[in-house]
Amino acid sequence: MTGIFRNCIGGEWVDGATTSLNRNPSDAGDVVGEYAQADAAQARAAVAAAAAAFPSWSASPVQQRFDVLDRAGTEILARRDELGTLLAREEGKTLPEGVGEVVRAGNIFKFFAGEALRLAGERIPSVRPGVDVEVTREPIGVVGLITPWNFPIAIPAWKAAPALAYGNTVVMKPADLVPGCAWALADILHRAGLPAGVFNLVMGRGSVVGEAIVTDPQVAGVSFTGSVSTGRAIAAKLVARMAKVQLEMGGKNPLVVLDDADLGTAVTAAVQGAYYSTGQRCTASSRLIVTEGIHDRFVRALAERMAALRVDDALAPGTDIGPVVDRTQLDQDLAYVGIGQAEGARLVAGGERVARAKDGHYLAPALFTEATNAMRIAREEIFGPVAAVIRARDYDEALALANDTEFGLCAGIATTSLKHASHFRRHAQAGMVMVNLPTAGVDYHVPFGGRKGSSYGPREQGRYAAEFHTVVKTAYVAP
Ligand code: NDP
Repeated sequence: MTGIFRNCIGGEWVDGATTSLNRNPSDAGDVVGEYAQADAAQARAAVAAAAAAFPSWSASPVQQRFDVLDRAGTEILARRDELGTLLAREEGKTLPEGVGEVVRAGNIFKFFAGEALRLAGERIPSVRPGVDVEVTREPIGVVGLITPWNFPIAIPAWKAAPALAYGNTVVMKPADLVPGCAWALADILHRAGLPAGVFNLVMGRGSVVGEAIVTDPQVAGVSFTGSVSTGRAIAAKLVARMAKVQLEMGGKNPLVVLDDADLGTAVTAAVQGAYYSTGQRCTASSRLIVTEGIHDRFVRALAERMAALRVDDALAPGTDIGPVVDRTQLDQDLAYVGIGQAEGARLVAGGERVARAKDGHYLAPALFTEATNAMRIAREEIFGPVAAVIRARDYDEALALANDTEFGLCAGIATTSLKHASHFRRHAQAGMVMVNLPTAGVDYHVPFGGRKGSSYGPREQGRYAAEFHTVVKTAYVAP
C-alpha cells in the first residue's frame, strides 16, 4: 500500500495520474487523506471495464444482487460512527448529521436490495386473439454517476444502489472535495461480492473525469447532482447523443409562515431548514415568506434561537452548525451577504466569519429581513447558512411569492389551517411539499426531485428510481 486511496477500475485498485489532499474544513491543519486523481484515459478505462461487465451483471440472478446490496447496507450501518466521523471530517457536517447521513445510506442499500427482488412487469390483454402482451423493465447499460460534495455518502448511495439493483454497471465520479466517503463506499461494495468491473470509482476533476464519462459513447445514461450550470452543460451533451440523463440541481426553497402557525413549529422548521448542515442543502429554506400578523414575533423568536446556535468544529460535541465546506464556498456566502445589504435588505443576525480554536471556514448563520423576492439573495442559490425573510400580506400573496422562482424543489408551509395546508399542497409548484416540517430532511424510500429549474429527467429514490435505471420492453407473444 502506498498510503494513497486509489481508484477502483475493473476490480483493481489503481493509482491515478496525480493525487490530491482531502482537507478538513473545520481545521486547515488536518488532512483526511491523499486520494488518487484519475485522468481522462483512466475514466475511459473505467467505462470500458463497466461495459465489459454489463452482459454478465445484467443477467445475474436477483438473489445475487440482493445479497451484495444487503451486505453493503449491513456494513454501512455497522460502521455508522466511523463513517459518520469521516463524513463530518471531510465535509463539515456535524457528527450527528454525519452519522444520520450514513444511516440513510445504509438504509438505501437495504431498500434497493429488496427492490432487486420486486421489479415486476405487467401482462396486458392484447387486442389480437391469442396474443399475450408483456411489459418488462431491463437495465440500460453503463451508467455514469456524478455526485456533489454536500452529501458525500447519501447521494452516491442513492444513485449507485438502484443502478446495481436493476442490473446496470457503474462508473462513479464523486466531488473532488469529498472523495473519502465515496472511496469507503467503493471499498465496501468491492468486498461485498460485486464481480470485477460492475462498480468503478474514478476520483478526479469534473472538467476532466466527469467530462470523459459524459462524452463516452459507451455510457448509456448519466445521473448528476450539483449546480445548475454544470447540470445544463452535461444535459446538452447527453441529449445530443441521445443518452439518458437525470439531473438534480439547485433550489430556492420557500418556507411560508402564516399568521395562524404555531410559532415554535415555524421557528424550528426555519432553523433546521435554513441553517442545519450549514445551509448547504439543495432543499434548504433560504426564503422565509411570512405574513404580516406573525412577522415581528417570528423574526424575534428566530433571531433568539439563532443566537443560541453553536458554530464550531463539526466533530466537537455540542456543535449545531459546522463550517462552510471550503474557502471558495465561504467567499460565495460572504459575497451574497454583501449583495443582500447592498440591495437594501436588513442583516439582523450573523453573516460574518467567526474564529474558533481551530482554523476552519466558520460563518455565523445570517438572517435578512425587509427582503423582497426580486433581490438576488431571494432568487439565486447561495448554498450557505443565509436566509431572507420576505413579508407577505396574506396567504394568497405568500403562495404567489413562493412560486415566483425559477426553481421548484421543495416548498414548506407552517400553518394550523387545514384549508391553507391543503391548498398549498396542491398549488405549490415544487416536487416536494412539507406541512409543518422543515423543507430539508426527507425519507429514503420515496421519490425525491423537483420541478422547473431544479430537476430534469425522471425522479430519484424509491421505486421511481426504476424510471431512469431501466428501459421498458413490450413483448408480443403468439402461441
Ligand atoms: P458542480 O456542479 O460544479 O459539481 C458537481 C459535480 O459535477 C462534481 O462532482 C464536479 O466535479 C462535477 N463536474 C464539474 N464540472 C463538470 C463537467 N464539466 N463535466 C462533468 N462533471 C463535472 O458544483 P460545485 O461543487 O462546483 O459547487 C458549485 C455550486 O453549485 C455551489 O456553490 C452550489 O451553489 C451548487 N451546488 C448545488 C448542489 C445541489 O445539490 N443543489 C450540490 C453541490 C453544489 P468536481 O467536484 O471535481 O469539480
